[in-house]
Amino acid sequence: MFYQSAYVKSPWNCELRTLQLPDSLPDAHVLIRIEACGICGTDLSHAENGMEEWQPFGHEVAGVIERIGSHCDDLQVGDTVVLESSGFCGRCDWCRDGRVDLCNKAPNFWKSGPSLGFSEYMIVPACCVVRYEGMTPETACLAEPAGVAYDMVKTADIRHGDRVCLVGPGPIGLMAIPMAIRSGADEVVCVGRTRNRKRLEAAEMLGARVVASDLPLSEQEELHGRFDRVLVTAPVQMIPQALRLLAYGGILSYIGIGTEDGRIEFDANDFHYRKLQLRASFASPALYYPTVLKMLKKGTIPADTIISHRMPLRDIAGAMTMCKEDKGATIKVVITPERRRASNEG
Ligand SMILES: [Zn+2]
Ligand SMILES: [Zn+2]
Repeated sequence: MFYQSAYVKSPWNCELRTLQLPDSLPDAHVLIRIEACGICGTDLSHAENGMEEWQPFGHEVAGVIERIGSHCDDLQVGDTVVLESSGFCGRCDWCRDGRVDLCNKAPNFWKSGPSLGFSEYMIVPACCVVRYEGMTPETACLAEPAGVAYDMVKTADIRHGDRVCLVGPGPIGLMAIPMAIRSGADEVVCVGRTRNRKRLEAAEMLGARVVASDLPLSEQEELHGRFDRVLVTAPVQMIPQALRLLAYGGILSYIGIGTEDGRIEFDANDFHYRKLQLRASFASPALYYPTVLKMLKKGTIPADTIISHRMPLRDIAGAMTMCKEDKGATIKVVITPERRRASNEG
């Protein structure tokens, strides 16, 4: 049987290919019929540069199990599932010491077949499949970025009464707002540029106080020294400015967005005497799916506020261009395959 799958090559080339499903599946693998896949910031930065060869892409996946290989006893055809983008092995020293968050040795889906999430089908290891029910696939596919947001919030170690500032109101930052509030934050202030109006409106709907300004953070003095926790989902160059927002003893939690030059400079004396902390959040392995699926199902994370566009797989190139060119009008774009099987030619 033939199916459609999207491939990307930098800079900004995107094409649909017709692939053939294999007759049998590898041991402990399942075939997923994809129902929804979100476009992520990393998809955009890979499209921009770093993909020298054509590659399949898309990793924020929700779908239905269509076929099961051997040794997948706990799964059934017809199960609705989301996919962990990486996992932990359960056997290495990190895992045995209870630090599964530092392991990345489990099988994953990145090289398990010729297609990834922007596709009609995907072959994946059974261990990265997480069942869900009670929500649409579009909502469920937010589990992957929601897990990233949750990791950032947990890394920040927010306590009751904390004043929290969010720098970077993309989908991950926005999902972190209700999580920070549920973690006990007294207030969440979201700072962003005025051109990102749709994202700032969403931040307000999610419970943040919005400060829209085109001044650099270093010049927004009314914000300096005010926050116990700062969450940064913006290019690394924002970190030195964002450190100024921290109050004495504050913690900055940073999730990196692809950048060519990762070097920054900041005043280590100020860092030392104000007892600041800078922490990296890197949600690999992808943990917390059960928790974030609950948040998505309950509406703690309102999917309708995060998803700005739903587009068919055949428009993937246009969807990528739209994300690149109009950050002001897009938040999360979700791609849904037509589920129409290609004819048996070619
Ligand atoms: Zn992602
Ligand atoms: Zn391990």
